[in-house]
Amino acid sequence: MDFRLDHEDEVFRKEVRHFLDRELPSDWLGMSVSWAGYGASSGELEGEARSSFYKKLVERGWPTMAWPKEYGGQGASYTHQYVYNDEMSYRGAPGSGGMAVTHIGPAIMVHGSEEHKKKFLGGISRGEITFAQGFSEPGAGSDLAAVTTKAVRDGDDWVINGQKTFTTGAHHADYIWLLARTNPNVPKHKGLSMFIFPMNTAGITARPYPNICDILSFNDVYLDNVRVPKDALVGEENQGWYQAMTGLDFERSGVARFAGCRRALELLVRYMKETRWNGSYLSEDPRHRDQLAELAVEVEIGRLMALRIIWMQTNRMPVSNASSVSKLFGSELAQRLSRIGGDIMGPFGTLRKDSKWAPLRGFFEIAYRNSVSATLGAGTSEVQRNILAQRGLGLPR
Ligand SMILES: Cc1cc2nc3c(=O)[nH]c(=O)nc-3n(C[C@H](O)[C@H](O)[C@H](O)COP(=O)(O)OP(=O)(O)OC[C@H]3O[C@@H](n4cnc5c(N)ncnc54)[C@H](O)[C@@H]3O)c2cc1C
Repeated sequence: MDFRLDHEDEVFRKEVRHFLDRELPSDWLGMSVSWAGYGASSGELEGEARSSFYKKLVERGWPTMAWPKEYGGQGASYTHQYVYNDEMSYRGAPGSGGMAVTHIGPAIMVHGSEEHKKKFLGGISRGEITFAQGFSEPGAGSDLAAVTTKAVRDGDDWVINGQKTFTTGAHHADYIWLLARTNPNVPKHKGLSMFIFPMNTAGITARPYPNICDILSFNDVYLDNVRVPKDALVGEENQGWYQAMTGLDFERSGVARFAGCRRALELLVRYMKETRWNGSYLSEDPRHRDQLAELAVEVEIGRLMALRIIWMQTNRMPVSNASSVSKLFGSELAQRLSRIGGDIMGPFGTLRKDSKWAPLRGFFEIAYRNSVSATLGAGTSEVQRNILAQRGLGLPR
């Protein structure tokens, strides 16, 4: 078995590296607070600088390069796309294009009408359209099929009422990809439909609140008699559950998350080699050495897991189980890694990035907080274990 990428992929890797060397600020640390990949707001590159960085990525067609040409992509291979994601994640570079690129666009590609595909995929790949994902509700998180937001047909329109919560980025998004109940009289996952409509539609209120990293990213979204046209429905009525699952499979596969872990481990190794504590270097401590060796094994397992998913996607194989494995292992690895990092730094590891005493500018402090959320978003670790037990191992519910 040959795990090497081909010559073209390696040439492309160099191109992405040169781009990042040139375009990122010289003191760039890459506080990749998104362990699920990259691109979450880290405070290192914000506002206009951040948008102009993303614009340069879009001009090169990189964020959506594996999409078909007719939908704004370049028809590039999954391995090419992987190389890009790997390098971006490794550097903690901003600009994943958010959930529109990572999973909502790909789900539209599978389930959307031709009109949806032309309109939304083209807009996403040009960097003109952003999305929020309206799934979770106060009474429907892990039990997503319990969604109570209702969509009722009225003539040629749908009228939607309800509340969504944890809706990341809804206060900035152009559109929402929203799961609503269209039939209350069937088993709960069979009565859901998926809708796409603009966030500025009358009757929508988005109230932002901060996440665990103090970033104003979550929202409560209230839908009060929101009237949308019939073509806001994605695919067939009452098939929303399957469309949601398609998107979640893409979201969970997140092959880039392991590159972020690899870099965090390298930063930690360097820090231990350079830092003395009670007269000796941290790198000489046998307990820390053991911990790091174990992490190195896990980071390598993650890299191989990511390559396997790319291989499965290239060969059009279903990745559902592999996505759950990747999500579970990757998010828990990020948590172990950042916890051990913080531990090694002792009390200094709890200092936030604005403290002059914070090691590595607080990288591991913010990484730890963020890694807690990584095991919750896109389905908790317990939910992934349930999925693997049932779908993967054939155990009863
Ligand atoms: C960073 C982040 C971003 C997010 N972004 C979005 C977004 O953009 N859009 C969106 O719709 N949602 C989003 N969410 C919400 C996320 O999908 C939910 O938080 C998640 O599905 C869990 O739901 P809950 O918070 O209601 O917890 P609950 O479902 O109430 O679960 C509470 C606890 O019980 C456990 N539990 C529940 N059921 C079971 C079971 N059957 N077996 C074993 N254990 C169980 C869970 O694992 C968890 O530990 C985001 C969450 C986070 C953390």
